[in-house]
Amino acid sequence: MKVISSLKEMTLFSKKASAKGSIIGFVPTMGYLHEGHLSLVRRAKKECNVVVVSIFVNPSQFGPKEDLAKYPRDLKRDLALLRPLGVDVVFYPQAKVMYPFGCAAYVDIGGNLTKKLCGAFRPVLFKGVTTIVAKLFNIVLPSKAYFGQKDAQQCVVLEKMVKDLNFPLQVVTLPTVREKDGLAMSSRNSYLAPDERKDAAVIYKSLMLARQMIKKGVRSSIKIKSAMIKELNTVKHIELQYISIVKAETLEDLKTLSGEIIIALALKIGKTRLIDNIRLKL
Ligand code: AMP
Repeated sequence: MKVISSLKEMTLFSKKASAKGSIIGFVPTMGYLHEGHLSLVRRAKKECNVVVVSIFVNPSQFGPKEDLAKYPRDLKRDLALLRPLGVDVVFYPQAKVMYPFGCAAYVDIGGNLTKKLCGAFRPVLFKGVTTIVAKLFNIVLPSKAYFGQKDAQQCVVLEKMVKDLNFPLQVVTLPTVREKDGLAMSSRNSYLAPDERKDAAVIYKSLMLARQMIKKGVRSSIKIKSAMIKELNTVKHIELQYISIVKAETLEDLKTLSGEIIIALALKIGKTRLIDNIRLKL
């Protein structure tokens, strides 16, 4: 497993691999890896000849009051997790190399897609995500890129970017990997104190309650949301940011549920912001 920090070296590696006819699978991450990330790597390994994993905590997607400085990082541990999976390259660029002085261009998806749900609470998030992912695509030159449904809005935004800007690659979205109690795995779970970690199980519980109601025939968005809020309120110190029930492909709000939907929520437990969602076909 090669660790490459130079952008030129990364592109050269990919060009050589493509020239040999290799399909390059790419898994972009911010590191501090867990089983959710590794599930993407395993799938990439199955479907591609060469697998590149990037580890880059992207400054441009963090707001000024967010957790960029304290975001968990442990390269040694990440490399030890990736090595047994047969990863070919870990791309590990420095921020000053990705964003040299004078780097001013960015990718911004217009319209409402990036302004609602998480975008309403983290205004710079998606502009940062689309810009870094576009840059990474241009450097790594993958044929397939793997993302997790855990970040449902990110998947929709990136699909739109790839389609509108004609990136010659396929986006693959894979299911959310969860802890035993249903909590979606996240690098940020490491911020939770033991009592907060226990409480965090209520997020998945509320999503399962919604699923149960839908199974029983409830189609009113308001009814489902209020039941979820009631469930979430069984735990103290939760600060709900949003619950949204939207069309899966467009993230359009739904009053009455039909077709493919996503139920997504974001909340804070103490100082830690967590997101989760489920996708259902009615
Ligand atoms: P991050 O390092 O948080 O930026 O995540 C890198 C990639 O891993 C993104 O495509 C995420 O959606 C995906 N990911 C993060 N957590 C999970 C999870 N629990 N299950 C599946 N994929 C995940």
